[in-house]
Amino acid sequence: MKGQLTKQEQTARESARKRAQRHFPITDKTICRKCGFNRLFTGSMTRNHIDGNVFNMNPANIEFLCLPCHAEVDSEAGAWGWNGAFRMPGEALDK
Ligand SMILES: [Zn+2]
Repeated sequence: MKGQLTKQEQTARESARKRAQRHFPITDKTICRKCGFNRLFTGSMTRNHIDGNVFNMNPANIEFLCLPCHAEVDSEAGAWGWNGAFRMPGEALDK
């Protein structure tokens, strides 16, 4: 799923992300599934939707990753941009 998201899609993804934040809170106990890193500061830990579908709220589809690992996982998946959380949609590599 590449290219521009419509405004509606962006809004839908944004509220899906907020819902995930409520359902799967990050606490001091949260560790990165990949490297075991325990968050040092708020925002250093992220949720990853394993199947890439932010609307899939199944706990089996959610994993916690630190920022570097999340970037790695997403670039492996070819998404490049942490599910759009830190990069504007449409800014994904088209080249
Ligand atoms: Zn990590």
